Amino acid sequence: MFQEISSFCLNNKVTLVAVSKTQTLEKIKAMYDTGQRIFGENRVQELVTKFETLPKDIEWHLIGHLQKNKVKYIAPFVAMIHSIDSWELLETVHKEAAKNNRIIRTLLQFHIAEEDTKFGISLEDGEKIIQRMNESKLSNVTICGVMGMATFTENVTQVRHEFRQLKSIFDRLKKDYFTDSHNFTEISMGMSGDYKMAIEEGSTMVRIGSALFA
Ligand SMILES: *Cc1c(COP(=O)(O)O)cnc(C)c1O
Repeated sequence: MFQEISSFCLNNKVTLVAVSKTQTLEKIKAMYDTGQRIFGENRVQELVTKFETLPKDIEWHLIGHLQKNKVKYIAPFVAMIHSIDSWELLETVHKEAAKNNRIIRTLLQFHIAEEDTKFGISLEDGEKIIQRMNESKLSNVTICGVMGMATFTENVTQVRHEFRQLKSIFDRLKKDYFTDSHNFTEISMGMSGDYKMAIEEGSTMVRIGSALFA
């Protein structure tokens, strides 16, 4: 599994976020003992409980939908939030990060799937958020890149198309807004069923749960 994550004969590294939602503390600790340090959770309460119990050198990523009123619970420790889907949420993360004297890394979550049920914004919404961010100088958050979830389908052509869409959103934003920044580097895409294809299409972070903990 770990070997498969890096692309063969390429220098590009892909970050593995081990998605530990619903996993027991024992199972997560066992994976920690193999050397894994980056874990992802999709619920705030579960994330806080696991943070409090497990070793403090774990980098916790919030990968699921986040409500503004819950940001304060994770702001003291969260390493990255993958699911920024509004200006108001980004502003709240900035304020809570400032209270904790921290700079929190974030990703903008884009809607690339066909299903209506998946969260995320459009390219236009993303551009507006970045423009506002540049005007208001939110100093306690950094936008590090983009995140997206492909449609849950057997249709690999469709999934590949959606990953390409996210990659092109990333390229476009990088070119238009982040040419002078070294921070806009991440494309978080790929889960247990589709991570190989996601890496082929340019993913820099894969979020893998069931295949890893099985
Ligand atoms: C659960 C989850 C994953 C991991 O899914 P698996 O299919 O178990 O690998 C990735 N990203 C998000 C946002 C998730 O909620």
